[in-house]
Amino acid sequence: MEDEEGSEYGKPDFVLLDQVTMEDFMRNLQLRFEKGRIYTYIGEVLVSVNPYQELPLYGPEAIARYQGRELYERPPHLYAVANAAYKAMKHRSRDTCIVISGESGAGKTEASKHIMQYIAAVTNPSQRAEVERVKDVLLKSTCVLEAFGNARTNRNHNSSRFGKYMDINFDFKGDPIGGHIHSYLLEKSRVLKQHVGERNFHAFYQLLRGSEDKQLHELHLDRNPAVYNFTRQGAGLNMTVHSALDSDERSHQAVIEAMRVIGFSPEEVESVYRILATILHLGNIEFVETEEDGPQKEGLAVAEEALVDHVAELTATPRDLVLRSLLARTVASGGRELIEKGHTAAEASYARDACAKAVYQRLFEWVVNRINSVMEPRDRDPRRDGKDTVIGVLDIYGFEVFPVNSFEQFCINYCNEKLQQLFIRLILKQEQEEYEREGITWQTVEYFNNAIIVDLVERPHRGILAVLDEACSSAGTITDRIFLQTLDTHHRHHLHYTSRQLCPTDKTMEFGRDFRIKHYAGDVTRYSVEGFIDKNRDFLFQDFKRLLYNSTDPTLRAMWPDGQQDITEVTKRPLTAGTLFKNSMVALVENLASKEPFYVRCIKPNEDKVAGKLDENHCRHQVAYLGLLENVRVRRAGFASRQPYSRFLLRYKMTCEYTWPNHLLGSDKAAVSALLEQHGLQGDVAFGHSKLFIRSPRTLVTLEQSRARL
Ligand code: ATP
Ligand code: MG
Repeated sequence: MEDEEGSEYGKPDFVLLDQVTMEDFMRNLQLRFEKGRIYTYIGEVLVSVNPYQELPLYGPEAIARYQGRELYERPPHLYAVANAAYKAMKHRSRDTCIVISGESGAGKTEASKHIMQYIAAVTNPSQRAEVERVKDVLLKSTCVLEAFGNARTNRNHNSSRFGKYMDINFDFKGDPIGGHIHSYLLEKSRVLKQHVGERNFHAFYQLLRGSEDKQLHELHLDRNPAVYNFTRQGAGLNMTVHSALDSDERSHQAVIEAMRVIGFSPEEVESVYRILATILHLGNIEFVETEEDGPQKEGLAVAEEALVDHVAELTATPRDLVLRSLLARTVASGGRELIEKGHTAAEASYARDACAKAVYQRLFEWVVNRINSVMEPRDRDPRRDGKDTVIGVLDIYGFEVFPVNSFEQFCINYCNEKLQQLFIRLILKQEQEEYEREGITWQTVEYFNNAIIVDLVERPHRGILAVLDEACSSAGTITDRIFLQTLDTHHRHHLHYTSRQLCPTDKTMEFGRDFRIKHYAGDVTRYSVEGFIDKNRDFLFQDFKRLLYNSTDPTLRAMWPDGQQDITEVTKRPLTAGTLFKNSMVALVENLASKEPFYVRCIKPNEDKVAGKLDENHCRHQVAYLGLLENVRVRRAGFASRQPYSRFLLRYKMTCEYTWPNHLLGSDKAAVSALLEQHGLQGDVAFGHSKLFIRSPRTLVTLEQSRARL
């Protein structure tokens, strides 16, 4: 490695530690962090610590230093990983993926942006217009998705409240010709409610703060977020984003510009903001139960009628239908006869909230699909049967543990169990299997296989999700409490499941409400079943769907295709939120497993979001649950690098007289052996059947250097 990575900066690869203990690991991490070295390898895995300050590590010059290099030639960097993934894709036609993980605020999204910037910078030297367009869309999509999918939370002022997986398609020249974004589980409950100190999604504040008076007037909006129920929950706080760069006003302009570049029409952009305004107005609608039958519905009225006017106007739907959908629902009674059943005030509020959440979710999905529609690869490579090579980038929520956790955390943590399974499969298990296959002797490393926890959640019939679905399908008779009892019956003896009922002495759980999962991270997480059934069922009255489908605004209408169904047809139960999420996770993991993986493991240095402080306890915990020590052990017991003999020769044969330009040694294996002997490196390698295994990265560095000297 280069001089700047001298020993005073610690070890650039944890594999080089003298001993693999938590203490040694932490000492190295700390030392490097203090010196501004936020990146360190474990073999090809990159460990990244959020510096919480601008470091001079990025930009065109830095990119140029990594472009086309080998991973070990330069100090550890995201660019090196991006470059490795890019080279594997370009030179070996391998689909690759970069999996970025870590807890909220650890720097995943920033990392994914740096990766994208790297890819954008090194591609399309010939400036083909279509490729430039695709790159613009790729880069600008982040800005738009952050506006609609990110929010200020107590852990991160710009927290992604959805999971994101983005495929970038490349043609045979290695230039991006398209892409596709999958989003996962948007935290839509945030539309209604935010914890103290937190905000709703950025887009609402950007609209209020960044719009011109005229536009606000047209949307019947007040500039002050404290006027709206949905934007003032964070309570009495300063509702601006605490970042000099990101005032809401400026972001608003940037988002509008980004939408324009991506290709949203002006009408579409207007619709988007009308929908946001609709949600704000919906949030302020309140219901009053009246004595006599009012003009609309028996005993129920909207407190402020003007809000109904606004909603009707902004959604381009008939006012009387808006009112009716708010106050009553249509039910099919007996056979096919439809009757209207009035809501109570509580039911109406519940339905209004469900509607607001659903409208936002559909809007978000529409935005994602709209971006996807302009990134469809156009010129597919005929030589791969129309299949392009792909780099996937996954930026998805890490483990979430609050004092009390709900359905959302349950899903997010399940997602992390799935990703850990993948990590085990790809990095730990696959590695060990390869050594066996290649006939290399080595010591097996023990690691905890979390399959048992994944199974607890997703197994058919008895798994937590299946039991939850069962509870949801029983027409409202099953309560959250009964659901919990069923779980207790099924998992009484499960090593990773417990509840207060099963463990009466454990007062940290509430009786009849909480259950616990012992996650692989060793985290014992307490879940409250309150709201599980409701969130899983994710129900919205057909009346709202039909209302919005009948809008004369084509953009809004397109978000509600299921509104055209008749109530009598809507008997088949849609898939539950949990099952949809499970299915999307299974598909995601299968997709990632089919690609050559690169991992970026992000660490959040402290809870205060400040520069220069590495809180040891906090980091230890993350190192533990990211499985980094096991990762180092496997890597060390094993080898830092492996290459087929032929590929190794191609790169290094010029460094040895016996192999340049061609060798006469019978086999590539024998030639490689001669080459290494000449360099005095034979002690650091093992010869597999088809591949050379190199123990330490230093060997590669030595070889690279002698190659560079020629
Ligand atoms: P979440 O799961 O909540 O979305 P995240 O892991 O995506 O969290 P980021 O939003 O990427 O976290 O990072 C949080 C903040 O940390 C950023 O807004 C930025 O201020 C800072 N940060 C992260 N990475 C870097 C970096 N490489 N250099 C400077 N600052 C950074
Ligand atoms: Mg993020």
